[in-house]
Amino acid sequence: MRPRPWRTVALAVLAVVAVLAVGGAATGLWTELSTGEQARFQGLTEVVPWDEAITVPSFAPRPTPTPTFDLAQHSTSDPTSPWVIVNKQRPIAEGYEPPDLVDVSGAFVRTAVQADLAAMVGAAQAAGAQLVVGSGYRSYAEQASARGAIEARRGFAHAERYSARPGFSEHQTGLAVDIESGSDPGCSFQTCFARTVEGVWLAEHAGEFGFVVRYTEQNTGVTGYAPEGWHLRWVGRELTAHLREKGIGSLEEAFGVPGGPAYPDG
Ligand SMILES: [Zn+2]
Repeated sequence: MRPRPWRTVALAVLAVVAVLAVGGAATGLWTELSTGEQARFQGLTEVVPWDEAITVPSFAPRPTPTPTFDLAQHSTSDPTSPWVIVNKQRPIAEGYEPPDLVDVSGAFVRTAVQADLAAMVGAAQAAGAQLVVGSGYRSYAEQASARGAIEARRGFAHAERYSARPGFSEHQTGLAVDIESGSDPGCSFQTCFARTVEGVWLAEHAGEFGFVVRYTEQNTGVTGYAPEGWHLRWVGRELTAHLREKGIGSLEEAFGVPGGPAYPDG
């Protein structure tokens, strides 16, 4: 084949030109860009207008989870426990006597109750409500006689609604007190107690001192008792705060234990 050196030369030149053209074009384009435009390609975030930028997630602090209130920290069946639940389904042993009864204004309560009871009476006094501490601890025998007296006077059905059978009374725990009205003594232990200065004050403030009004209009179904605005049960301020915060109306509901108007044996 006849050699065609001009073609080889031409091809080589073309190759060189092509390489230069492509590279030159590229480098030419780049160098023609202003510094700002170069920056634009190098780091888009620097030139994206703020209002077009990706929505910045808000880093609002997560709400601190409320520590779960530990309802298991005290027993509900041990009679010495501050949270023992005694109702018509949950008797208390006939022979149980609280180990540490003290006298507060003529009523016996356990030592754990003493300070809160005194503080409550004092605070009520300052607010114009005269709480008269009626009765506290009642032994099994005393409950039997109190219940017998009510039954004799008002009949069995009435007694069932207002008075525990012996062995089923919170008063045997030493953690319950009955408060009488100083402003209207005639309403003591009566439905009208709830409307006395003392009854109204207790409904609002007993919880601040660790007491619950144990039997209310709202919880009659679960407690099995007619409302008694005067019967307070001490459980401690931690638990009453929890009940208030959660809007829980009875100890039975708080702990999920059975209650109601019927005794196990009918
Ligand atoms: Zn009572």
